[in-house]
Amino acid sequence: MVDSQYVLPNDIGIATLDCAEAFRLLSPEERLYAHYLSRACWYGGLVVLLQTSPESPAIYALISRLFRTQDPTDLGETAHALGLSDEEYQAFLVYAAAVYANMGNYKSFGDTKFVPNLPKEKLKQLVWKSQAFQDHPEEMEDLWGQCGDLMFSLEPTQKHLGLCGQGISTYFSSNCSMEDAKRAQDFLDSQNISAYNTRLFKKEVDGKVSYEVRLASVCSDDSQLDADLAAKMKCFPFGDCEFSMTLGDYAPLLQKVVENLQKAQQHAANATQAEMLTHYITSFTQGSIVAHKEGSRCWIQDKGPIVESYIGFIESYRDPYGSRGEFEGFVAIVNKAMSAKFARLVSAAERLLEELPWPRAFEKDAFLKPDFTSLDVLTFSGSGIPAGINIPNYDDIRQTDGFKNVSLGNVLSVAYSTKKEKLTFLAEEDKDLYIKWKGPSFEVQVGLHELLGHGSGKLFVQDDSGAFNFDREAVINPETGEQIRSWYRGGETWDSKFSSVASSYEECRAECVGLYLCLNKEVLGIFELEGEDAEDVIYINWLNMVRAGVLALEFYTPESGSWRQAHMQARFVILRVLLEAGGGLVSLRHTTGADGKPDAVVLLDRSKISTVGKPALERFLRKLQVLKSTADVAGGRALYETYSAVTDKEPERFLTLRHTVLLRKEARKLFVQANTRLEGDDVVLVQYESSAAGLIRSFRDRFPDDGEVLERHLMDLARADAHFWGK
Ligand code: ZN
Repeated sequence: MVDSQYVLPNDIGIATLDCAEAFRLLSPEERLYAHYLSRACWYGGLVVLLQTSPESPAIYALISRLFRTQDPTDLGETAHALGLSDEEYQAFLVYAAAVYANMGNYKSFGDTKFVPNLPKEKLKQLVWKSQAFQDHPEEMEDLWGQCGDLMFSLEPTQKHLGLCGQGISTYFSSNCSMEDAKRAQDFLDSQNISAYNTRLFKKEVDGKVSYEVRLASVCSDDSQLDADLAAKMKCFPFGDCEFSMTLGDYAPLLQKVVENLQKAQQHAANATQAEMLTHYITSFTQGSIVAHKEGSRCWIQDKGPIVESYIGFIESYRDPYGSRGEFEGFVAIVNKAMSAKFARLVSAAERLLEELPWPRAFEKDAFLKPDFTSLDVLTFSGSGIPAGINIPNYDDIRQTDGFKNVSLGNVLSVAYSTKKEKLTFLAEEDKDLYIKWKGPSFEVQVGLHELLGHGSGKLFVQDDSGAFNFDREAVINPETGEQIRSWYRGGETWDSKFSSVASSYEECRAECVGLYLCLNKEVLGIFELEGEDAEDVIYINWLNMVRAGVLALEFYTPESGSWRQAHMQARFVILRVLLEAGGGLVSLRHTTGADGKPDAVVLLDRSKISTVGKPALERFLRKLQVLKSTADVAGGRALYETYSAVTDKEPERFLTLRHTVLLRKEARKLFVQANTRLEGDDVVLVQYESSAAGLIRSFRDRFPDDGEVLERHLMDLARADAHFWGK
């Protein structure tokens, strides 16, 4: 029996990343731009195989060949004839889907290895019996030889990513230790070279140590490089060793990235986008991070584009040293339908703000629309998909040019399961309604949260000249009935005053505004909801919030008594407030599941939402706003920390509940992404079913013309460096 930590469950959540509606509303030019950018992303995403483990490219090539020759259903029949059980074949499908979704055989979140959950001999038999093997026996045998053992082995040093002796990494040759990584960083810093797009290979000849720092680039010699970079392509003595700078890592893959960026450029929406792509093309051609920074500057200036994208060596989480970036590329589309509803919400804002439970004096003089875009992901290549992004990561650019913060709507909306059997902590009778209304209620909540939540409320300020932005005589604190006694002084901000609680407190305020205003008929009308539907959306929105409050416990660390996620802490606080309201509004029960293990159910009495829930929320929301407006840090902290506290007190026993939540936690989902295909001058979107087979089919169709060529490139690249990993 393999430790379940290293295998993926057969019923792992697999969700389609639906962007059909957003894509439908694109103009023909926007579609072409999105199409070629997506192509660039997908080709570049294959780089991640070479950045993960020595065997990843061969595993990828093996499964791609199997499924290119036989559809998952077809290969299933072969498996059946061989005597593989349905469970065993499903385990192989899940494994293959996960290799595609993580671009390698290590989980992108957590960095642990995963292995196929069926006997090696059975998988080998299946490979040998497959059509791909009948067609090309030597090549398939060779691929199996490259990865068959490593696919299954769980030697201690192979269980997770890490440096020499501790784990697996292909950012470094296997003889590199933390000391080598530090020395390389010192060298790179001394030459002002960024590590983002590099790998490090160490050689020892006759006791003399030399390192190769290899840059990711299409160019393999310095003849086409700009002068600054060309001057660095040489051998540098450094202490008692030497470093040589070389070019051309991942060259054939980056060549395809560049070709597609050039095609995308012809369909750019404006000059800034076109210039941005010029810099990226230079960056990937020459291996220049300086050019990538220039591209990132343009990207920040390109405000609110219809088609949004970013591409390159971006996140450094998976380099054991933390300075080398993993390739990723995404293309996302502004959800025009959702944006239109949000725009209607903005035009009704002045009226709706009056509904909020604080006096007019606590509201801004004029409503300022907060900067917020909700994007639907069309393409996200690399090892995994986040729910939101805040890039670029270059600190110097963040300081001088800023950054972008976007929410990835279609990722967020499926982040929690909508499969009935996986809907934890809900009563059976709530599940169908929850599944039906989860999407629409989420839309209402997000719109209210972002626009009227973060967009509402005033801070009382005395500026450096001593002037107040409020009437000290007239404004009365509704909590105390007295005049305002505290405020922000020049230079003080919400974040600087409330520091460690500021972000979660503010998320809580925004979530409360959403819950409170979703009760409003006009708001529901804006989202085209009436009658019983509107009532159902209110119920599901509130139910979802109290369930989220339970799920939030996953993000609490009892050892340090701290919360690791601002939004989830906020939802826990709201659950506490609604439990405290009493009157049978919310009830939380510890139960025992059908499997005999601890379970829990959270119930919401819909008839009490307006009679008990609304007044309780009103009181709490007013407190949050008044303490915020008046810069009352002591009062604000005391309130927020009281509700954030996780104890094992009866009747809720939250610490015990936390164990139940961890026990019933769902494995991270795999996303099935669409393909775009050129048909004449038009681009069509091809979506796939949300299953392991669907995910496999999406990858089978991803490189329709050159799948085999790419696999050969990958194998050549892996083979050329195999000796660095003792093969
Ligand atoms: Zn927020």
